[in-house]
Amino acid sequence: MNSFEPPSQQPGRITAQGVSIRLGQGRQAFEAVQALDFAVEPGEFVCILGPSGCGKSTLLGALAGHLVPSAGDLQVDGRAVQGPSPERGMVFQHHTLLPWRSVLDNVAFGLKMQGQGHAARRQSALHMLQRVGLADFAERWPSQLSGGMQQRAEIARVLINRPRLLLMDEPFGALDAQTRARMQELLLDLWTQIRTTVVFVTHDIDEALFLADRILVMSPRPGRFIEDLRLDFARPRRASLLTAPAFTHLKRHCLALLRHEDGRELPRLTPLGLPSADHLPLRIAL
Ligand code: ADP
Ligand code: MG
Repeated sequence: MNSFEPPSQQPGRITAQGVSIRLGQGRQAFEAVQALDFAVEPGEFVCILGPSGCGKSTLLGALAGHLVPSAGDLQVDGRAVQGPSPERGMVFQHHTLLPWRSVLDNVAFGLKMQGQGHAARRQSALHMLQRVGLADFAERWPSQLSGGMQQRAEIARVLINRPRLLLMDEPFGALDAQTRARMQELLLDLWTQIRTTVVFVTHDIDEALFLADRILVMSPRPGRFIEDLRLDFARPRRASLLTAPAFTHLKRHCLALLRHEDGRELPRLTPLGLPSADHLPLRIAL
């Protein structure tokens, strides 16, 4: 490659150096996450996997600009994160759709804030609703949708702003297993089309392995990264992956990591012991 080639112009690069985040007041204050160093490339799908309370939501809150790190440097595309922005869209476990607006108006809301005219934003919102399979529900109230449909509307509401980062905090955690599986496939299909950077928080190993290019595994509080797993399972990913030997092998490894209390003497990933072991779809970077 030509060394004078300019860096990728695609937005969505995250760089974090020595990021710690303190929560609580006075003598109750504590470090929720500690000295995090990581980088995410534009267009990557990264899952942050860790036990409950390890600081996943805290880190995502800092990326969203809701929380300020107490130490270190957190940048998106070379600029320090300062406050929330539609460029860094967040999806939580429960939707934030406004109950008194139609699904369409909720999705179009971001464009209204940008000053777009009524007809243009209606057209864009309808298009976005089509992409998440909700075109027929545009005029409904959010309360008239199922849980999965509400989350689809929520994703459309965020994606209409064309964010550099899509930040997702256990977004399918409240859904039943079948709906959740369908939502995972829908999200991957959308991501294939838009290729925005996704940082997806979950405590569910299967979910992380199914979705991600890469999994950052966090230790219990204070959260630190104890593993950086790169996955190379073929895309598009389908349900059959969940029972593939390479998948269950990595699942066992992640389970062992999460069960480990203090993060010392971490289990090492051993070869799969199958003829294809040399071609295991991963690389361990830590
Ligand atoms: P996770 O998302 O991994 O479950 P969180 O980031 O929500 O973890 O929380 C990390 C730790 O900080 C937890 O122990 C939680 O109880 C605590 N915590 C979260 N928010 C606050 C807050 N606003 N004030 C004090 N402690 C908090
Ligand atoms: Mg959380």
